[in-house]
Amino acid sequence: MSSAQRTLLLATHNHHKTREFERLLAGADRAWLIEPLGAEVELPPEDGATFAENALEKARAAARACGRPAFADDSGIAADALGGAPGVRSARYAGEDASDGENLAKLLREAPAGSGLEYVCAIAYCDPERSIEELFEGRCSGRLAAEPRGMGGFGYDPAFLPDEDAAGRTMAELSDDEKDAISHRGRAARALLSWLESA
Ligand code: IMP
Repeated sequence: MSSAQRTLLLATHNHHKTREFERLLAGADRAWLIEPLGAEVELPPEDGATFAENALEKARAAARACGRPAFADDSGIAADALGGAPGVRSARYAGEDASDGENLAKLLREAPAGSGLEYVCAIAYCDPERSIEELFEGRCSGRLAAEPRGMGGFGYDPAFLPDEDAAGRTMAELSDDEKDAISHRGRAARALLSWLESA
């Protein structure tokens, strides 16, 4: 580890998100290192009305439990044909303990192929000692594929056709770098990064 390297505590138990944030925040100069949250730290239920509210609650809980600044994301997918659902309920769309595959299958059943989708990611950064709470947001628009394709990413990626990919691939068919460049999480993480660098 270089002496200039700083650590950032990430308030999640979702290893897919941890991997994506490691890629997004480490950067070319490896200035930031993600510190995973200990398994013993309990995060609050995601029962807020907005992604921002849920992200803030998670970041506050981790910062309180670990005694240092923490950041968290809350993210999900909004389907035009479903009035914005599943939204903040994306992880539990097909039931409380639903798997990614079950949630994806439900979205494919309930929304028509070709209908509009939007991924949203809110990131909250919380430093209780310095009374800092900052929010960042990223979005990515797309359409629902007729059937799942691709092995990359996670969650709804195999059925998400990002508008910015002219080749018509699903998010799960993009390379990690391609996903990061256009994803909701990539955009929100870059906003966090530029704030951290200027703070
Ligand atoms: P939460 O932020 O822990 O509430 O979980 C967000 C849920 O939204 C995940 O379980 C996925 O189902 C979905 N989701 C969020 N970001 C992505 C993504 O980048 N790709 C695919 N699905 C995502």
